[in-house]
Order: sequence, then structure tokens, then C-alpha cells
Amino acid sequence: MKITGIELFEENIPLKQPFITARRRIDVIKDYVLRISTDEGVYGYGACAPTPVITGDTVGSIACAVKDFIEPLLVGQTVSAELLPMVQSVLFHNTSPKAAADIAIYDLLAKEKGVPLFVYLGGKNEDKCVKTDATVSLSTPEAMVAEAREHLNAGFSALKVKLGGGRMADVERLEKLRDVICGETVLRLDANQGWSVEDAVYISEAAEQMGYNIELIEQPVHYTDLEGMAEVTRRCPFRILADESVFSSADAGRLIRMGACDMINIKLMKCGGIYEGMRIQRLAAEHGIECMLGCMMEGGVSVTAAAHFGAAVGITCYDLDPPYLVHKMPGEGSTVFEGDNILLSKEGIGLGYTKII
Ligand SMILES: [Mg+2]
Repeated sequence: MKITGIELFEENIPLKQPFITARRRIDVIKDYVLRISTDEGVYGYGACAPTPVITGDTVGSIACAVKDFIEPLLVGQTVSAELLPMVQSVLFHNTSPKAAADIAIYDLLAKEKGVPLFVYLGGKNEDKCVKTDATVSLSTPEAMVAEAREHLNAGFSALKVKLGGGRMADVERLEKLRDVICGETVLRLDANQGWSVEDAVYISEAAEQMGYNIELIEQPVHYTDLEGMAEVTRRCPFRILADESVFSSADAGRLIRMGACDMINIKLMKCGGIYEGMRIQRLAAEHGIECMLGCMMEGGVSVTAAAHFGAAVGITCYDLDPPYLVHKMPGEGSTVFEGDNILLSKEGIGLGYTKII
């Protein structure tokens, strides 16, 4: 099967309510579906979303990376797994457009074999169900209580609470949230780099005293402050999840060596797709480090790809809630987004899409 062309399609997917973290606010998911055409009439689909404050990838840079680097690399090539590392090295950084191309190649590889992507990636040939948390945006305590209540009413048993908005203000947020969150709800606190080491220790201890069931604290300090990450990991009563500090397997190795995290959040937009994501996951597993599979505010295609990857390698911790946060994800196929469940059917081929564009 030979690659004959690559196209990018823009999708704007409105959120039910604004998504707010310590780094940014968005109202609409801007997503780019990448379609690889082949001489056999089979299409491979991938996608990416610009997240300038995290990956540095913008609308313009994504279009440019695809047009000037990825398209010339891939067009004319025979579809094979050998293309995956070539995509990673065709240009520096630009992990989001690389992820889009990587996912589309994996979609084609699985379609060639006639199996779902999670089976191609080594998973068992059975229906899969991935359970995600739901995000409570960083806002006033009252607004956060209302949002948490909404998610719990929708059946979520795990919440990712965005913090990083000032030490005492964050403690106040947590205090107010006790009105709605009971001991059974699993809490993941994500500071998005908004704390100092002392903030992280103080807030974690306060949260512990409030009796919350806290599973992890995510990216407490600035992504470059690995000593700070290591210190929080030593002093904090909860597991520390590295997010913005880990883009690649090289980053993961550095943090693991430094004892700067207990867990790693793999996002396809940070690592350039499934190929590098699997390298991070394997390295982490060798060191007994658990991985979460997360995402940016992305459309359904790349979220589905992340779910296939996680299901294939046995990841149990997911933060893949964009499908739940929008009115409707574009596209049709064998994947079902239902509250906190992402259901992957063994009947689907590749990513399982029958219609995207
Ligand atoms: Mg995060």
C-alpha cells in the first residue's frame, strides 16, 4: 500500500463550558484531522490540537510542519512501521503534527491487518472499556463545586481538579469542594506548574487532613524545576504525577533517575504519538512507574487513538474527558463515548472510524 497524499481538515468543536487551568482558558476545541490517502483507496486518520502554552504548537506551525516536512517525507512511501521513527526525526519538536501523522500511520497499519488498533498494538482481541475522570476547571470555589456536582451526577467516580491558583485560595477551593465530594470519589489534583515546593507540601497536607481520597498530585511545580519535582516527591504524602516535565522517553528517564515523580502522564500531543508513547510506557514499566494516559483539549480521533494505546498496554489510569466535555464529537464509528466510559469494539478496524470528515 503506497501513500499518495496527505490533507489537513480543521474542526472547531464547542465545549459545553469553558475549560480553565492555571495556564489557559478555551471555549472551543480547535482540532486538525490529518488524512493519509493510499493507492488502494484506504485512508488513515490521525489528528492533533494546537496547545501553544504546553507543546508550543500553533495553528500555523502545525500546517507548516505537515506541508513542508511530513508530507514530503511520506508521499510515495510504502506503508510500514519503519515510517514511525522517520516521522519522529523529520523535524525537531512539533510533537502535535508528528502525533497526527503517527496516529494515521498506525490506523493504516491496523487496517492492513484487518484488526482494531489495540489488537495491532498487542492487546487481546476483545471489547475494551476505558474509564476516564472528568475535569473540574480552575475557577471560584462556588463554580468548582457546581462543576464537580455535575460530573458526579453524570456518574464519574474520579475527578481531576485543576488548582494552582494561589496557596490559600486553593485550600479554600478544596474546603468548599467537601460539600459535594465524598470520601469514595478519587481525586487527582493538577496544579499545572502553579505551585512552589512549599505550596505543594502545604496544600497536600491540608487536603489529606480534609479526608479526601487523593490518588495523585499532578505537575505541582514548573516543568523545568526537576529538583523541585524530586523534593515534592520525597515530601508529599501522595504520589506525584509528572505531566509537562515529560514529553519524551529521554525526559522520562531523567525524572526516573532523579526520583522526580511516582507516575508519568503520557499524552500523544507531547510525545509525538503512539510510537514514542510506547517507549515511555515501557521505560516506566521497567522501573515500576505507573503511567496515566491523558490528552490536551483534543477531538475524538486522537482521544480514540490514546484509548487504543492505553487499552493495548494495560494502562488503568485515564484522563481522556474531551468527548464528555463537548456537545458532540464529530465522526462516526465503532467507538462509543458514554459518560466516563470509552468503549472500543473488537469489530472496529484501525481506529474504528467509518466517517470522520
Ligand atoms: Mg496536567
